[in-house]
Amino acid sequence: LRRNPGEIEFHQAVREVLESIGPVLGKHPEYAESKIIERICEPERQIIFRVPWEDDQGEVQINRGFRVEFNSALGPYKGGLRFHPSVYLGIIKFLGFEQIFKNSLTGLPIGGGKGGSDFDPKGRSQREIMRFCQSFMTELYRHIGEYTDVPAGDIGVGGREVGYLFGQYKRITNRYESGVITGKGLSFGGAQVRTEATGYGCAFFVEEMLKARGTSFDGKRVVVSGSGNVAIYTIEKVRQLGGLVIACSDSSGYVVDEKGIDLDLLKQVKEVERQRLSAYAAKRAGEGAVFVPGRSVWEVDCEVAMPSATQNEITGKDAERLVRGGCLAVGEGANMPTMPEAIRVFQDAGVAFGPGKAANAGGVATSALEMQQNASRDSWTFEFSERRLREIMRDIHDRCLSTADEYGMAGNYVAGANIDGFKRVADAMLALGLI
Ligand code: NDP
Repeated sequence: LRRNPGEIEFHQAVREVLESIGPVLGKHPEYAESKIIERICEPERQIIFRVPWEDDQGEVQINRGFRVEFNSALGPYKGGLRFHPSVYLGIIKFLGFEQIFKNSLTGLPIGGGKGGSDFDPKGRSQREIMRFCQSFMTELYRHIGEYTDVPAGDIGVGGREVGYLFGQYKRITNRYESGVITGKGLSFGGAQVRTEATGYGCAFFVEEMLKARGTSFDGKRVVVSGSGNVAIYTIEKVRQLGGLVIACSDSSGYVVDEKGIDLDLLKQVKEVERQRLSAYAAKRAGEGAVFVPGRSVWEVDCEVAMPSATQNEITGKDAERLVRGGCLAVGEGANMPTMPEAIRVFQDAGVAFGPGKAANAGGVATSALEMQQNASRDSWTFEFSERRLREIMRDIHDRCLSTADEYGMAGNYVAGANIDGFKRVADAMLALGLI
């Protein structure tokens, strides 16, 4: 705490991991002897930089850029870039720290990192976004590379932004190094299923949790928060698996659509027109959809909750209400969306709780598959890639359960994910010497 004052989200993320790995440290004194915990909590490198750019009125704007290269014991640093006004070092460090264990859980050779900026893309023109991305990459390019650090998207960074970032990297370095960034468009080295991967993966993970309890998505009422990349493709896959998604949200409120969210319309409004969710509700008013401004979507009763917007969106009170409303399972599509007291409420009530490290790992896993395809100059079909994703999610689910079992915490996916993710990284760090 003393070393990292004011980094509240980072403290929260570290505490959550440390609380679950006590039993591992008891079994493996070598971790404590070589100070693995102290080492793992300190990023290998933190880069903070100025991002100057010019807006459409010709006015100079200054933002702050970050890249935290947290841990490269398992492979090159890997993790997304977030563009959101709330971004500061504590947010990037929490995301980078979580990313270490998530990436380890996938079983693929990727280390952990994260980056971003306090730039607010909302209301900015396409040209402003491009100029910002170009300026951001003009500094970032010297720190990244296929074998060093491979960024991707996150909040506020989708296919369009990744395109501008990659374009500037290529221009500065004169290298068509496809593996330097993932989430690329299909026409310039992107991989099938990467756009859908986090949402699809989260739906697959929850499907496994439900199956482990002898049930399925079939006919279940599902609420998904957010209406961005993760939310949209969670809704798509949940629907294909038989669930009925009745509500989703954005930062201004939520929409309830009892007949089920109209996915084509949602994609049109969010991905093509780049409008707010209230515009979706207005277009669906004839079908009974209602927009509720300024409130949390977690007041809507459901059997499955899939938070897919941002950190700390489900409070303890929300969790109590969800449990009373018959919630059976929670799958975190977002990173750390459930507050610690809310996790306890769910676990005490016997709700199947899939933490983000496990449930949303499908995005980064598919990014690693994109890197594989870039390295071999290959491109796989949609069906093959989706099959790989489904196998990876099933494997993560099963390992979480078996690890939790092995350490006497049957059914506790949080403990299973933290322990399994931690052990692999810790063992690699031991093997690599004092790094
Ligand atoms: P997007 O930018 O595509 O969408 C974010 C959505 O969340 C928007 O609907 C946004 O609403 C809402 N949102 C963002 N911040 C807030 C806030 N402070 N309060 C309320 N709503 C908010 O991002 P993604 O879908 O990519 O990311 C969503 C979450 O999933 C994040 O936690 C991210 O870290 C996590 N994640 C993403 C992965 C990916 O592959 N993209 C991989 C793994 C995790 P509005 O438009 O009003 O801001």
